[in-house]
Amino acid sequence: VNLNKAKFVISAPDIRQLPEDAGIEVAFAGRSNAGKSSALNTLTLQKSLARTSKTPGRTQLINVFEVEEGMRLVDLPGYGFAKVPLEMKKKWQKALGEYLEKRESLKGLVVLMDIRHPLKDLDHNLIEWAVDSNLPVLALLTKSDKLSQGKASAEVLKVKKALQVLGGDIKVVAFSSLKKTGANQATQIICDWLTA
Ligand code: GDP
Repeated sequence: VNLNKAKFVISAPDIRQLPEDAGIEVAFAGRSNAGKSSALNTLTLQKSLARTSKTPGRTQLINVFEVEEGMRLVDLPGYGFAKVPLEMKKKWQKALGEYLEKRESLKGLVVLMDIRHPLKDLDHNLIEWAVDSNLPVLALLTKSDKLSQGKASAEVLKVKKALQVLGGDIKVVAFSSLKKTGANQATQIICDWLTA
């Protein structure tokens, strides 16, 4: 598979509007502003596949991209965005929770976290949930260009250690959309999931 073949399919407000639950999906989740849209664009080699703008209207949707028939990348609503009303927050959280709980075709979860402050409560909860659901996780530590290489490697080790106790299939990779750091490694892992 070639991730750069990804094509936009639909923006769904809830799981009922998603494509049929068949085939394989790899989902991307993370706090708002973690660099999820940038990472999707980097991994698919497309400048504007996922919108990087901060319009809350768009981020609450589940955005689906098809790589090949039956192989999809799913951009989940960002969580933890401070500047929105509670009602809206609840709605997003609901779409996210429903997707994660009910989607049979979900076969791998990419969790994006800013390398400078990874493993916030919601990130940790999400990863724990994935491990409990036997779902493999790729923790992408984004914006790694913001740290020296030494500090970035140290952070990867720290996160690996913190997650080790959960057991499960968890990979941790330092990633930069700006410098393309970790892009090949991440692509390999995602393509393995898509073709398993
Ligand atoms: P999202 O809300 O998770 O989709 O995050 P975006 O992809 O929109 O990125 C949020 C902000 O972080 C934007 O201002 C991006 O320019 C910036 N950003 C994203 N990826 C990187 C990166 O790899 N390096 C740096 N330095 N900034 C990044």
